[in-house]
Amino acid sequence: MDGKLPLVRSSLGEGRWLGSGSFAKDAGEAARRLPYRQILTESVYEAVKEQIMDLEMAPGSRINMDQLARQLRVSTTPLREALSRLESDGLVTRQSLRGYSVVSLPAWEDVLEMYNLRILLEPETARAAAAARGDDRLPGLLRATVGQMSELSAVPVLAGHYQGYRALFNTDTFFHDAIAESSGNKLVRRTLASLHAHALLYRVWYHAGFAAETVREHEAVIDAIAAHKPGAAAKAMRDHLERSRDRFLEVATNGEESLSGA
Ligand SMILES: [Zn+2]
Repeated sequence: MDGKLPLVRSSLGEGRWLGSGSFAKDAGEAARRLPYRQILTESVYEAVKEQIMDLEMAPGSRINMDQLARQLRVSTTPLREALSRLESDGLVTRQSLRGYSVVSLPAWEDVLEMYNLRILLEPETARAAAAARGDDRLPGLLRATVGQMSELSAVPVLAGHYQGYRALFNTDTFFHDAIAESSGNKLVRRTLASLHAHALLYRVWYHAGFAAETVREHEAVIDAIAAHKPGAAAKAMRDHLERSRDRFLEVATNGEESLSGA
């Protein structure tokens, strides 16, 4: 348990969904720099996100705000703020009169379309990142994400629940977004972010484990960017996404025995 947890726990009364070590650590880190209201919203956001990612809140179901607020033992104000963030994550939708609902699980054809769009765009972001001169911090940042990914994927408890694979999910999301950001094309970066590719994939296939090949494929992208080889960076990114798509297709067509790392 993180030493900062009691602050958050006492602020939230029972705080019963703050039980896990990783959650407590983040809440503690947040406590050092955020005012109480933001800590509360952050905690509520993570608690609801966990329920959505673990499918405890049924895909497509309507969210009863009062019931959820009672369950989490908070008022509806931080819950509204958390749901608004989850809406921008692509995990809930809001309709006038009807309120918030959990987004439905995608059909596999939708996932395939998402991959094909990424395969059009992301090799170009990697190419541009490799061609960029002036700021050489990117390869170091990316190597840190791969190092984390490698360590995290070695922990068996990670397969199964969002609390376990959350850090893996975040490093994967960061890797692709950091490359998109360094490409310098803000519209392409926004378009990729709007796909919510990682949230979508992990929600469906989180229970199947993690593809170790993902680490090696990410390393090939980083090596090409660090060496300022645009053509090689584009190819490495394309190879990674095509293999990731093929792993997904294997899962989609043969049952869910192995996972596509995203
Ligand atoms: Zn990836």
